[in-house]
Amino acid sequence: MSGLMAGKRGLIMGLANDKSLAWGIARQLREQGAELAFSYQGEALAKRVRPLAEQLGSDFVFECDVSDMDALDEAFGRLRERWETIDFVVHAIGFSDKSELRGKYLDTSLENFLMTMNISAYSLVAVARRAAAMMPDGGSILTLTYYGAEKVIPHYNVMGVAKAALETSVQYLANDLGPDNIRVNALSAGPIKTLAASGIGDFRYILKWNELNSPLRRNVTIDDVGGSGLYLLSDLASGVTGEVHHVDAGYHVVGMKQEDAPDI
Ligand code: NAD
Repeated sequence: MSGLMAGKRGLIMGLANDKSLAWGIARQLREQGAELAFSYQGEALAKRVRPLAEQLGSDFVFECDVSDMDALDEAFGRLRERWETIDFVVHAIGFSDKSELRGKYLDTSLENFLMTMNISAYSLVAVARRAAAMMPDGGSILTLTYYGAEKVIPHYNVMGVAKAALETSVQYLANDLGPDNIRVNALSAGPIKTLAASGIGDFRYILKWNELNSPLRRNVTIDDVGGSGLYLLSDLASGVTGEVHHVDAGYHVVGMKQEDAPDI
């Protein structure tokens, strides 16, 4: 297979179904010749993920709950059994108790704060450490974040705080791994209707607001995310690390409601 990613192989973490941001990225990586492995959380997802992986020419699919360090060791062990080295990892994982993705951040419980931080932020660190050990010739690690890390978005609450930690982790990891030619970047995607997003209160309103107010006057798709993911994971972005790249139809540059946007 020829293409930008020919000869490169890597792990996609966080594919749940064909609406997942991970699917948009994986598809474009495959189109450009990458060889892919997939990890999923929980046996229930296996029957969704396996056929999708097959569509992209992969039978290399295994379970990994990123909040469990033994499971992470086991997953990277499986990866290493088949592939001695890898070139990239996509970390498309986030989770919080949906009862706290509405109402006030003020009411966040300690238990959910710690769980959200663990799964949505610390897991990138845990993954990067294990992935880097398999990247002797350099590589690229990509995670997914959201504008709620930078500005208050109603209902995003503790997830916004976790994404801020994730974005700062990207910078520190980029500096730690830079001497090994391993790049670490994030895509800050605009709102897209996925399983994870459906847990966020008033998500339909957020979608509509973004569509009406972003410079491109539309929402982004998983194909938009896939194209930017391909760029950051490929050698086209060989000089880019520690970056949070917005794929949000430009929404983050707008400071006011657009004149032509009707009240919603
Ligand atoms: P999704 O539901 O398709 O993917 C989320 C994935 O996280 C699922 O595959 C789920 O199994 C996985 N996950 C949750 N807890 C896990 C755990 N303990 N171990 C392993 N995997 C676990 O939704 P998505 O929107 O594609 O989310 C992917 C990433 O994109 C998330 O980090 C999300 O915050 C981010 N993001 C989403 C949007 C959006 O609007 N959809 C916008 C910006 C960023």
